[in-house]
Amino acid sequence: MYCGADLLRDRVAYSAAGVDHLLPQDKYEKLIQDKRNVVASCAACNATKAAKDVLEPGKDPEMMLSAHRDELIKYARQAIGLEPWEGVRATVRG
Ligand SMILES: [Zn+2]
Repeated sequence: MYCGADLLRDRVAYSAAGVDHLLPQDKYEKLIQDKRNVVASCAACNATKAAKDVLEPGKDPEMMLSAHRDELIKYARQAIGLEPWEGVRATVRG
């Protein structure tokens, strides 16, 4: 989850909800099926996050997903606009 919306509150919310790939599937094909790379998302967050790459340059995608997934989610929330940027700004591309 990025924003905390109740995806089960009604049929509209449920049917519009989807899964976002934390690390975008077009760039990280090996991680498409990786459960750690999938985040339940409301339609608005999914559309805004889109294919933005929240992995900092030089970081290992597998290591980040296994040990620092919360950090990737934080960057995604910043990319969506749910949180202000703070500290070292991740280079968000796409
Ligand atoms: Zn949302």
